Amino acid sequence: IKTIGVLTSGGDAPGMNAAIRAVVRRAVSLGLKVKGIRKGYNGLLNEEIIDMTARDVSDTISRGGTILYTARCAEFREEEGQRLGAEVCRKHGIDGMVVIGGDGSFAGAQKLAGLGINTIGVPGTIDLDIACTDYTIGFDTAVNTAMDAIDKVRDTASSHERCSIIEVMGRNAGYIALWCGIANGAEDVLLPENYDYDEQKLINNLINNRKRGKKHHIIINAEGIGHSVSMARRIEAATGVETRATILGHMQRGGSPTCRDRVYASIMGSYAVDLLAAGKTNRVVAYKGGKYTDFDIDEALAMQKHLDEYEYKVSKALSV
Ligand code: ATP
Repeated sequence: IKTIGVLTSGGDAPGMNAAIRAVVRRAVSLGLKVKGIRKGYNGLLNEEIIDMTARDVSDTISRGGTILYTARCAEFREEEGQRLGAEVCRKHGIDGMVVIGGDGSFAGAQKLAGLGINTIGVPGTIDLDIACTDYTIGFDTAVNTAMDAIDKVRDTASSHERCSIIEVMGRNAGYIALWCGIANGAEDVLLPENYDYDEQKLINNLINNRKRGKKHHIIINAEGIGHSVSMARRIEAATGVETRATILGHMQRGGSPTCRDRVYASIMGSYAVDLLAAGKTNRVVAYKGGKYTDFDIDEALAMQKHLDEYEYKVSKALSV
């Protein structure tokens, strides 16, 4: 391997810059060249490719977003797009590629690897929804951002004795919701993994909590469950308790990465380069069972992620 390409793909996540920086600097330290590909697979197909030196990633570890930009690319889902991607890599002398993103981005990485470009995935997503790893870059920052925001909503909900429905990110994965449920002491947490769409239960819970003297009532709703604003209207109509919805939205993706995200990103980015330098391909970097490790992408994509039932039980038990 002489030249490594690096790109960020899918939704952005705080810590992606720390991962890019690690890829660039670890590669440079091994005497390899690095090319940055802008805007994910889109930029690959359009040849938005820049040379990167150690200095190009100065002052980036603390920055949110991704200096390489990110995008979704429908063309790369097709065989023709994938073939063109591999050709572009060869044209630019890129013989190893690091793809920072989620499961979708890894599916793309797998295709590139199948076309002879040594490719390694690094898990970068705020959703923590990649089965092969216990950690994904961006989760810690996102969940702390959401937690801080929910604390603020809770203050005002308590003052006004309101019910608050707070919608957090996680269309298909409830980790941010579950962790905030525990960290913010929410009365109810609605998760895509196990929500039974029984609104009457939420209503009963709110009424019972009022009877027990609770001044506020927080329902954390993972994005995938449904429309928070109309849910709030229905709950208010059924209970007579003033109920407001707050949708946290994209604020959860931004901001300076936490220490945890910077450290995981730095190590995972370096690890990816070490795998390429050792001639490996079609692997995903992971943190599993307390150790950094790697999995075959095919194997990684076939794994299922399950919500921690005990964590969910605790979140319920502590909301009495
Ligand atoms: P996030 O977790 O933030 O959604 P992601 O990486 O899962 O991140 P996707 O939008 O699913 O985000 O995928 C990003 C890009 O990866 C897609 O726009 C597409 O270019 C590529 N991709 C996704 N699935 C495939 C596939 N099956 N084959 C080839 N490329 C794919």
